[in-house]
Amino acid sequence: MIFDVLTLFPGMFDSPLRESILGRAIVQQLLQVRTHNLRDWAEGKHLSTDDAPYGGGDGMVMKPEPIARAVAELKEKTPDAKVLLMTPQGVPFKQHHAKKLANELGLIFLCGRYEGFDERVRETLVDAEFSIGDFVLTGGELPAMVMIDAISRHLPGVLGSSDSAEIDSFSDGLLEYPQYTRPAVFNGMAVPKILLSGDHGKVAAWRREQQLLRTLQRRPELLERAQLSDSDRKVLDRLRNDKEK
Ligand code: SAM
Repeated sequence: MIFDVLTLFPGMFDSPLRESILGRAIVQQLLQVRTHNLRDWAEGKHLSTDDAPYGGGDGMVMKPEPIARAVAELKEKTPDAKVLLMTPQGVPFKQHHAKKLANELGLIFLCGRYEGFDERVRETLVDAEFSIGDFVLTGGELPAMVMIDAISRHLPGVLGSSDSAEIDSFSDGLLEYPQYTRPAVFNGMAVPKILLSGDHGKVAAWRREQQLLRTLQRRPELLERAQLSDSDRKVLDRLRNDKEK
């Protein structure tokens, strides 16, 4: 997978891409992240990439021409790459998007600054618009990094164990079950006995129930779209009844 990032601040990507799982995956050439300074496609004496908004108002708007030139050049190298625009007005980015986008050959991230992009960028150059949450950041670099991280976890070989992405929260629409490690007792709190039983069937059933309980308690709206078996539904009915008592 090749991630191309168009940004005015390429230096922001240096450290996150050197560390830990992503850093290792890049060294192993499981993925490539190429950051590009948008100013390289700017023209004129001042190489400006933004201008005042038509109609007046505060702030500056990112000009369409440097972005169009940059995208065209990047697409010459990876014609099938999808162009993703970072914006708080985009589709809320979810785990299922991360999994699906991991199948693409290339992704081009457009990171905004100031008041965002000239509307014609959205209309003509972009395949999808994503938001990482209902809040406004100063730029699209952190959203792009968040998405690159989440997508990379689904690329073959990036995670140590091939199925760890499958048990994470959201992978089947539910939150993950609680996890414990040594010591067996910490500050008077013991690990649930079942996890020490060595009975894999019982552990799996306990974990599934905990997933359902945790999702019911914290994110009940996720249950409407989760992949649930008949036995999950029975457990959920019981948990709901227990809650009402
Ligand atoms: N004026 C814009 C609006 O109200 O929609 C917000 C512009 S924001 C200050 C500057 C840039 O940060 C945006 O163009 C976008 O690239 C990025 N950005 C900010 N918040 C974001 C979010 N929640 N998700 C994705 N990108 C975001």
